[in-house]
Amino acid sequence: MLVNYPFSAAQDNNWVHEWIYEAVSLIINNLNSATAIPNWPYVLPREHRNKLTTRKTIKGLLTNFENIAVQLTEEQRNKALLLIDSQNNIAGLLAGETVPLVVEEELKSIIDCLKLIFFEGFRLLKETGSRDAHYKAIYDSLAVKTCPFCGYEAFEAPGQKREDEDHYLLKDKYVTSAANFFNLVPMGGKCNKSYKLQQDLLFKNNIRRKALNPYGTIKAEISLINTTPITLLDDKPDWNITISPDIEETRTWNEVFSIEERLKETVLSPNYEAVLREVSDFLQCVGLNHNSSNAQVLTELVKLEQYKKRNPEQGLGYLKDKVVGMLRFHFESDNSLVVALIRDALPQIEAA
Ligand SMILES: [Zn+2]
Repeated sequence: MLVNYPFSAAQDNNWVHEWIYEAVSLIINNLNSATAIPNWPYVLPREHRNKLTTRKTIKGLLTNFENIAVQLTEEQRNKALLLIDSQNNIAGLLAGETVPLVVEEELKSIIDCLKLIFFEGFRLLKETGSRDAHYKAIYDSLAVKTCPFCGYEAFEAPGQKREDEDHYLLKDKYVTSAANFFNLVPMGGKCNKSYKLQQDLLFKNNIRRKALNPYGTIKAEISLINTTPITLLDDKPDWNITISPDIEETRTWNEVFSIEERLKETVLSPNYEAVLREVSDFLQCVGLNHNSSNAQVLTELVKLEQYKKRNPEQGLGYLKDKVVGMLRFHFESDNSLVVALIRDALPQIEAA
């Protein structure tokens, strides 16, 4: 992704997940130490008890959990707790440092029960307003209000129709992270429903892979410097998109969201003519004409590139500064086709 989400957006709103985790751990630990389990609502952490005492569904689900957990051995209960811990170490899982645990047959009943509990937690995120607060914190943090997974899908303002809240790690596989905001990421509808779909970020063909952490610090940069801007066969550039840093995490992102393909076909090619027109219009506006020297043209191209970088466009035009930069680079390198392309668009001046 091109921009990371603030860690605090997940951390500050994660209390539903946290109190479920605390209640479940308390039940397991008390069963293990043969200590009485507090009745509802005292099984909930004191901090959020008042907000949740009327939630009958979760009350019933926790009672079920207790009834199933009591039939298991201490070792089995601890295994279940370990599985919850591993599934919720989202940063560790994405970085390839935490091993995703497989649900053993003996734990199936308790994990099925935990699934219902954490899915109910996910539902409560909406009802408790946590989901809106989480989205607002993320939306407010974005300098450009677009989906950071593709860079161009517009994000609706808080209070409007909600953007997709993607379970970054699939909720049907990593069931106990279903209500954890560190696993929940606002995402444009196209990225979510047409590209990511049910792909598992942690595995491809059963081979473990790393993936970018939306709440982490690594993000991707795009460069077009290796693009050949004009070819003799086609008037469209032979786009060469370089994604950096070139690490497994960014390669997974490119693969899962078809980034290169989408940028070429949807963002770059259809808007190339518009960039060329803009360059030509800009050079004319600053008073250049057919008699201007290449050095004068280059000076103005550098200015335009800097201006575009400081004032990036949104939506489908968001890579325009990079396209201008690519043209400037090849003009400066004296690529004769690019020099001709830019110069041919300069206005002719009648000889005096
Ligand atoms: Zn997107």
